[in-house]
Amino acid sequence: MNMAEHHIAGKPQPRVNEVNEPFWTGVNEGRIRLQRCLNESCGRVIFYPRVCCPFCHAPDLKWVDAAGGGRVLSHTTIHRAHHDGFNEELPYVFAAVELDEGVIFYAQLPGAPADGTSLLGRRVKAEFSEHGPDRKIVVFRLA
Ligand SMILES: [Zn+2]
Repeated sequence: MNMAEHHIAGKPQPRVNEVNEPFWTGVNEGRIRLQRCLNESCGRVIFYPRVCCPFCHAPDLKWVDAAGGGRVLSHTTIHRAHHDGFNEELPYVFAAVELDEGVIFYAQLPGAPADGTSLLGRRVKAEFSEHGPDRKIVVFRLA
């Protein structure tokens, strides 16, 4: 990617590869796709995408759709962005969200109070935000 393309893109973009491509294609379609381990004695749900189960090392994983609900585990208010592409959104809340399927996402909470109000344990619902050319990203909104 040259500098001109980077300027047009605005925000840093995810690095899509053959392992995580089903996840990112799903996000563009408005779905959160997670992997489930097919080893019957394990069966854990996995995120981020991998080539084998990080718990039992079984190689057989199946893509499954998350329902999109979760709760806030931790959060902070961003007053200075790590990248200029986020400056227009300042200040904003960035959170660790545990999906109901048990995996953790790190994402923005657009519309959440950025004044330091505690959001711990609050229910959230996934949304899919425009992030760049042909690229959406997962964010969460307070339920
Ligand atoms: Zn497993």
